[in-house]
Amino acid sequence: MPPLSTRITTLNGDGDDGWGVFYKARRLIASGVEVTELTIGEHDERTDPAILDALHAAAAGGHTGYAMVPGIAALRDRVAARIAERTGVATSRDNILVTPGGQAALFAAHMAACDPGDTALMIDPYYATYPGTIRAASARPHAVPTEAAASFLPDPARIARAARETGAHSLLINSPNNPTGAIYPRATLDGLAGVCRERDLWLISDEVYDTQIWEGEHLSPRALPGMAARTLVVGSMSKSHAMTGSRIGWLAGPPEAIGPLIDLATNTTYGVPGYIQDAALFALDSGPEAEARVAAPFRRRRDIARRILSGQDTLGLIPSGGAMYLFLDVRATGMSGDAFAHALLDAHRIAVMPGESFGRSAAGFVRVAMTVPDDTFAAALSTLCTFAKGHANAA
Ligand code: PMP
Repeated sequence: MPPLSTRITTLNGDGDDGWGVFYKARRLIASGVEVTELTIGEHDERTDPAILDALHAAAAGGHTGYAMVPGIAALRDRVAARIAERTGVATSRDNILVTPGGQAALFAAHMAACDPGDTALMIDPYYATYPGTIRAASARPHAVPTEAAASFLPDPARIARAARETGAHSLLINSPNNPTGAIYPRATLDGLAGVCRERDLWLISDEVYDTQIWEGEHLSPRALPGMAARTLVVGSMSKSHAMTGSRIGWLAGPPEAIGPLIDLATNTTYGVPGYIQDAALFALDSGPEAEARVAAPFRRRRDIARRILSGQDTLGLIPSGGAMYLFLDVRATGMSGDAFAHALLDAHRIAVMPGESFGRSAAGFVRVAMTVPDDTFAAALSTLCTFAKGHANAA
């Protein structure tokens, strides 16, 4: 076999990147063992049947040929209007590229912002695909740490230093945050925007959890002064409309960036199926009530979790305002997040993600996805607390 490119063979860095527990849980499930799966951000409720009806009708009606590569005009207009309504920033069709999910938008954004070898900053802890996505775009990921004591919020001074030292071309942020649930307050976003303006960085703002807000408010940094010209916003219908498998999202940015990004799409994805786009348009036309319905179970389970966790003092819950996860400090057990997650799976058949999967700053934490029915979730969390207390007493 001829050699494979370094780009493709080094995408995932070293080791299992903390995905060992996830794969172990999958193997157990495949062998017939019942596992409470709290690893990945997949809703327990499926896509609304009304959206599927729209999808069927579009496909049966013949929208199965090549669709417009940048996205069908009606969907680009609808996404632009939604962004304008939510942020107050003038946005039109020319600001929008429809993509096969937020993941493709993250890749496209880094392709637009970075040349091969350029440094792309990201905040640690980070969503697991970030380093590989940046490497796939032939750029170099550089993780800037955050502290648990500061609720994992980025420090603009630290970002400025990293930008100066590395000569970075972009900064990737994610609020509401996966894995921590943090919502970046205005002061943090103002500080980060200042760094981007000063260092002439692209800001890549991953806002795929923007409909899962439990406390405080979501602010899109594209709305800050001078930022619309240097911000690429990653959007998705995966989390907002439980459409993970439909692969539909977008990138919003200045038309001067969207134009060449359409060329990139022509030469990579060739767009998103027309019937999926019609279904997405129907879903967005269903309004914010439909989004609130999809978010409601996570809001409810977060309240359940807070009640259960308030009755113990072994596990620390990071104060968070959004997204479908709990981020728990397990350091009082004397175990790493990875050891804790493996031991919990072995002892109780409950699968959670080790914090280490999301970078070094998250060592000693675990992420719990609130993605099973309320009763199952409450029972699993109670077991998790008892398990942690037992280990803390032994430590
Ligand atoms: N960004 C974040 C922070 C995510 O958690 C995810 C999915 N878990 C994505 C982007 C990508 O989602 P999708 O490609 O399904 O839109």
